[in-house]
Formats: sequence, C-alpha cells, structure tokens
Amino acid sequence: MVTIGVLALQGDVDEHVRALENSGARAVKVRRPCELAKVDGLIIPGGESTTMSNLLASFDMFEPLKDRLDAGLPAWGTCAGMIMLSSTILDGRDDQKCFATLDMVVRRNAFGRQVDSYEEDLVIDGIEGDDFRAVFIRAPWVESVGDTVSVIARAGNAEDGPIVAVRQGNVMATSFHPEVGGDDRLHELFVSMVENR
Ligand code: GLN
Repeated sequence: MVTIGVLALQGDVDEHVRALENSGARAVKVRRPCELAKVDGLIIPGGESTTMSNLLASFDMFEPLKDRLDAGLPAWGTCAGMIMLSSTILDGRDDQKCFATLDMVVRRNAFGRQVDSYEEDLVIDGIEGDDFRAVFIRAPWVESVGDTVSVIARAGNAEDGPIVAVRQGNVMATSFHPEVGGDDRLHELFVSMVENR
C-alpha cells in the first residue's frame, strides 16, 4: 500500500485523508520534513497560497518540499495547492513563493471577486463515467501551459474555456476542491499515479 501525505499547514486536510483512505492508500498528515521523508506522494490542499507560502517558510518546509518535488515526488495541488505548484503567479503577492514544478502560469482569484464560489459538472480526461461535480472557491485558473503540461479539463467544458485541471506525468493540479462532495475518482486516479510512479 502506498503512503500519501496531505500537507497539513491549513485547508481541508481531513477530507483529503478520508478520500485517500477510501481510495486504497495509507494517508498521513505532513507538517515537518521528517514526515515528508516518509511519503510516496503528496497532496497540497486548498487554502490561501500567500499564507501557505509563509507557513512553509516558518515550518522550514519550503526547501525540503522543493527538493522532493524536483526529485520527482508525485504531487497533486488543489486550488491554492495548484498555485503552489505553478511556475508563475499572476495577481499574487510580491513575496509569495511557488515551487515551479509545473510549467504553467496561474492567475489567483481568476473567477472574479463577485463570484466567490460556483459549481459545475466537468468532463475530465482520465475520469470515466459521469461528469465530475467541481466546487470552485475563490479559485485560480491556468492562464497558459508549457509543452510538457497536458490540459485535462476546462471550465464550461468549452474548447476555449479557462484551464482548470492539468497533468504532467505524476504531477496533477486542479483549480477546484475535489475533496468536497464525496466523489473520490480523482483521489483514485492520484493513488494509481503514485502506485505506478
Ligand atoms: N484564492 C486562494 C489563493 O489565492 C485559493 C483559494 C482556495 O484554495 N480555495 O490562494
């Protein structure tokens, strides 16, 4: 059984742990470098990317996590976690840092202030069956991707819609919150990515 960490500095940590356990993985909360050393893959949950960037620095976690990501750790960033995995942040705070794991430009709070939150049924490449109910909460979108990054979902399921899910090998990022709503298919996909790493 693979062990998958959930970065537990803020955000929906327990919900990700539950979904991972339902998907056949051992799930552990990760706050310290010694905990990070034990995982085969990591989820970076939603929250607030500026705060997460600060907390990673205060917990002495930024560099150890950056090293593991650079060495090929399977990872999945959701919402603020997507922002953390990006290479360029638009509408960010000047001092906020990201891991540059995925070659993509991400815009924070891209769906606009008045629409703090919305839901829609998404067609996602790699997810069989019904559309996936995606919950967006002050979500980012991906403004552009490099050649190595595949787009796996777009808002409105429209060919020219904003990019809301991407994948590169065993690293994935989604704008929305897959841990709410009880559909564990994306967690199952991530567990299989970690198993086949
Ligand atoms: N707007 C948040 C940020 O900039 C992300 C929101 C979320 O993770 N739900 O980090």
